Amino acid sequence: MKSPNFSLLHRHLVAKDVIHLPLMPRNAINAYLIEDVLIDAGTKCSTGLLLRYLKGKALNAHALTHAHADHQGGSKVVCTNFKVPLWCSSLEKERAESGLATKDYVDQRHLVTRFQQQYWAGPGHQVDKTLEEGDLVGGFRVIATPGHSSGHLSFFRESDGVLIVGDVMTNMNLINTRPGLHEPPELFTEDRERNIQSIRKLLALDPRTLCFGHGPVLYERGELKRFLACL
Ligand SMILES: [Zn+2]
Repeated sequence: MKSPNFSLLHRHLVAKDVIHLPLMPRNAINAYLIEDVLIDAGTKCSTGLLLRYLKGKALNAHALTHAHADHQGGSKVVCTNFKVPLWCSSLEKERAESGLATKDYVDQRHLVTRFQQQYWAGPGHQVDKTLEEGDLVGGFRVIATPGHSSGHLSFFRESDGVLIVGDVMTNMNLINTRPGLHEPPELFTEDRERNIQSIRKLLALDPRTLCFGHGPVLYERGELKRFLACL
């Protein structure tokens, strides 16, 4: 499949050794390169674009915030092409290895669930190492943030407050794509209350730069606290 090149122009350095790789227009789906580790891999439809971003980069590993279809879609291709290991939490391992990325969505018969599994989910790939809270990945500390999915992970770098949020929150209205903080959609979220606890846990880290799975990067000026106060 010929990959679109719309967002090649939008790749940008978020902070030292942190590159934002938008995989859909308006930052609707994102991956990040932190040092030599790719975090998330978009859908299988955006794999060509992802490979173009990564061309010439020294990649040493690929890690997942979680194994939903819009994060693991390109994982197998990336790991195979670059001969790098795949890492995720133990609770995401089965989804990552089977490619059954939507198996824990709350409504299996929903049109969106079926669409994502058929058109976005990539093939499964062997997980070489499972990550736990406190592990170091590309200079970032692993933070367990369950709720959206049971084994969801975020990644935090204390030295400059950069946080890879994953899908604990989105910085976009997924219907009209307008930027702004939101909880992830209920259809794709296993346990909303647990996810809100994870939002609180992330706020307690006092992050300054937030990188989302969906939506633009946010340079924090109190938005997160105001958002949490409304939940
Ligand atoms: Zn998700």
